[in-house]
Amino acid sequence: MNLEQLPVSLLEPAKLTVAAIAGGLGVLLVGPAGTGKTMLAQTTAGLLPNFTDTEREELRMLWCNHIGTTMPECPVFRAPHHTSSQHALVGRRDPKSGRVTPGEVSLAHRGLLYLDELPEFSERALDAITDALLFGVARFYYRDGVSTLPANPQLVVASANLCPCGKLGRKTGTSCVCSADAKERFQRRIAKFEDIFLPVRIDTSCAQLDVRQVIGAQLTTLEAREAIAAARRRQMGRQGRLNAFIGAPDRTRIAWSLSDCGFEDEARAWLSK
Ligand SMILES: [Zn+2]
Repeated sequence: MNLEQLPVSLLEPAKLTVAAIAGGLGVLLVGPAGTGKTMLAQTTAGLLPNFTDTEREELRMLWCNHIGTTMPECPVFRAPHHTSSQHALVGRRDPKSGRVTPGEVSLAHRGLLYLDELPEFSERALDAITDALLFGVARFYYRDGVSTLPANPQLVVASANLCPCGKLGRKTGTSCVCSADAKERFQRRIAKFEDIFLPVRIDTSCAQLDVRQVIGAQLTTLEAREAIAAARRRQMGRQGRLNAFIGAPDRTRIAWSLSDCGFEDEARAWLSK
């Protein structure tokens, strides 16, 4: 699916996601079930800039030596289920043969890692993912040393409902029945991961999906890709790195990314929120 085919109600969330990609900033999509969070994440994977020569070489080694197939031609979208085992998420090393098998964090190397229903991942799973993403490598310790595999997605996106029952924030239908305690516990579970990896929080609550009206010419894939490339050039010219890697407050970083993409009004709105 392309940006143009998304329901028009996802236009604002899509613009913010484009700005996040431009700045290399991770995104948490929050909102009730059925507001198009996964659809948006999948679509934006197709907007990620293509590999540099160095990345291509890293990927070639990873896929050829450890996965056994040819590397993908463009950034992949990986969306492990929250019930996936730790081995499936971060990989494993066979103690007998010494062979390492990549997990999702490595399969998503230089692509998009999407953690749907983030609060449903176990604490252990999130810790393991955190460790790999922080260092950009999955590490496998054994008696005589450590093996590593690259694990550095271009973008991390996660989704979360606002409460355990998933109905908080819904405009129509039955309303949320969760207690205040349950809601707080739910949001606390992802707080650490969000703090480290997901500086941009995008609310999709307003997006009541009506697939009859699509974004169309209001934001095309080509325009978005060009906006991302131009925004990155501006950031590199201004500060020598993407907005994700400068120490300004998060709100400023996303507003810069928005204005770098040419979304001036959105940038002002974001800053005045
Ligand atoms: Zn609820």
